[in-house]
Amino acid sequence: MKPNEFIGLEEEYGAHNYKPLDVVLSRGRGVWVWDVEGNKYMDCLAAYSAVNQGHCHPKILKAMAEQAERLTLTSRAFRNDQLGPFYKELCEITRSHKVLPMNSGAEAVETVIKAVRKWGYTVKGVPDDQAEIIVCADNFHGRTITIVGFSTEESSRRGFGPFTPGFPVIPFGDIEALEAAITPNTVGFLVEPIQGEAGVVIPPEGYLKKAKAVCEEHNVVLILDEIQTGLGRTGKLLAEEHEGIEADLTLIGKALSGGFYPISAVLSNKEVLGVLRPGEHGSTFGGNPLACAVARAAMKVLVEENLIENAEKMGAYFMEGLKTLDNPMIREIRGKGLMIGVELSPDAGGARAYCERLMAEGLLCKETHENTIRFAPPLVITQEEVDWALERIRKVLGR
Ligand SMILES: *Cc1c(COP(=O)(O)O)cnc(C)c1O
Repeated sequence: MKPNEFIGLEEEYGAHNYKPLDVVLSRGRGVWVWDVEGNKYMDCLAAYSAVNQGHCHPKILKAMAEQAERLTLTSRAFRNDQLGPFYKELCEITRSHKVLPMNSGAEAVETVIKAVRKWGYTVKGVPDDQAEIIVCADNFHGRTITIVGFSTEESSRRGFGPFTPGFPVIPFGDIEALEAAITPNTVGFLVEPIQGEAGVVIPPEGYLKKAKAVCEEHNVVLILDEIQTGLGRTGKLLAEEHEGIEADLTLIGKALSGGFYPISAVLSNKEVLGVLRPGEHGSTFGGNPLACAVARAAMKVLVEENLIENAEKMGAYFMEGLKTLDNPMIREIRGKGLMIGVELSPDAGGARAYCERLMAEGLLCKETHENTIRFAPPLVITQEEVDWALERIRKVLGR
């Protein structure tokens, strides 16, 4: 079939809830993907950072195939021999105490909301149904009703109400606003270390550290959504390490499987997860042996192949290269590790057109918001591959 035929099928039979670039991919390896006609591209999105380990990593593939032959799903009605070792290894590398496994990122966010609310009622002593979780403007935490209810993005919310109450919104990066928003009913503060979907927005230095102190002072649980920033993307295993803190609760997902399988988790340091009793929360697929085996291999690859250090090194090199671009249309270049945003000025006519031109040059990127191009390739990228990317970027974004 021709690319247009595949696109036609999607358009005819699928819901139109995405507006993808018109490239039909059929194969991937490392930072590279190939379309149905055999054209090769560098993937500079890495499935929104789910493919940090690179496409079809052979060690993760092997673990998945071996486990798939043995046992895939038991439900949590029974125990399985992958879950315990997965918990232990995950806690060891993230220095956490407890894990609750789910599937998608949004489910991890929903889970944390339930756990923190219950902690508020049973431990902090907040009156029934009064708990508040503070969130930030321009957040992205997923697509369920509760989550889009506290989004500030019109297109995420419009037409989907009524929404779940209890989520005051404050500006991102503003510590005074956090202090002012806390009430006796505040149970949690949910925040991304770097706002990826908002356009790679980095808060002022020291923000997370101060947020941690403010939360501690008021007995509020600090919840970091590291679904995108976590697992090496920013040059640290978790982005919180840049500020030398440990969140009370951390959400991870995406790269936890290296792109093979939907796996997410809530990690707990404070005894928040301890408030959940049997029957109060669960998921048919959460913590299944296939997911656990895949995640164990994916974590091992991150560490053994030094992908976290590589993200830091290659990220710095990539940024340095981007900063030599001499184009008045570029308003700002910002990033940490291999999470990089190039913001164009509004009169550049939007980032989408640039992404299409980059695609024609063999580089797959996606605009985030109107005017920002995100560069976030798999963390296995080499210096030669960064040079390859920069050459194409220079052609499209240079003067
Ligand atoms: C992707 C993402 C989510 C949602 O994850 P899904 O697996 O798409 O539900 C939540 N938070 C952040 C920061 C994300 O990047």
